[in-house]
Amino acid sequence: MREAAERQEYRKAGNLFVVSAPSGAGKTTLCRLLCDRLEDIRHSVSYTTRPPREGEVNDVDYTFVDRDTFMGMVEKGEFIEWAEVHGNYYGTSGRRVEALKAEGIDVIMDIDTQGARQLMERGVKAAFVFIMPPSLGVLRARLEGRNTDAEDVIRRRLTRAREEISDYHRYEYVIINDSLERALDELRSIVLAVRCRRENIDDGWIDDNFLKEVE
Ligand code: ADP
Ligand code: 5GP
Repeated sequence: MREAAERQEYRKAGNLFVVSAPSGAGKTTLCRLLCDRLEDIRHSVSYTTRPPREGEVNDVDYTFVDRDTFMGMVEKGEFIEWAEVHGNYYGTSGRRVEALKAEGIDVIMDIDTQGARQLMERGVKAAFVFIMPPSLGVLRARLEGRNTDAEDVIRRRLTRAREEISDYHRYEYVIINDSLERALDELRSIVLAVRCRRENIDDGWIDDNFLKEVE
């Protein structure tokens, strides 16, 4: 049974988790499973100019917008990071992330390495996690198996995969997504460990409950 009210009493605002990986490494699958199986964590829904893939739902998988709308949001400073990836724009709304964090909900952002770098360079407080496929051959097989992209798109994604992987050393955590269950356990462990960091526990709650003089 979930004990959200009790949990939020001693937790400060939610934490931010930034997950990057080359396309096809399995970050959507991992982030989705994590949010299904762990309470108090949500995936941040990005804005994109990419057309929806079959089965994708607006405002659930992404908020799908046209380029003018996206650029209007860039000009208004609505994104905490944004980037062009595979010819389309993607961005994370600062308002969406802050609203979840303020409720004590952890937020997991599945973004590319350019976006993650913007957050790192601005010193945004987050746990940065890089997900690797077990090999380039497996990455190709997963992209083909997903059946969502044409051959030329897959080729482009594989070329970019190597550029993205070369950025892995900027991240604090690395997960090799070989066995899905093991990778999920590792991601879950990272989230749980961050939740237990001393700085994330509300000092006021400790004072009120344990350290105040007993009358
Ligand atoms: P990404 O979001 O990184 O582009 P996806 O989550 O869409 O990747 O995964 C790409 C494909 O690989 C999907 O068909 C998914 O079901 C599959 N997949 C993900 N993780 C694993 C794994 N550990 N073992 C086998 N297949 C996987
Ligand atoms: P896809 O089109 O396969 O869903 O995603 C393509 C890439 O865009 C992935 O690497 C994904 O992590 C990235 N992406 C998704 N949302 C965002 C976002 O809001 N910002 C950035 N920078 N990248 C994103």
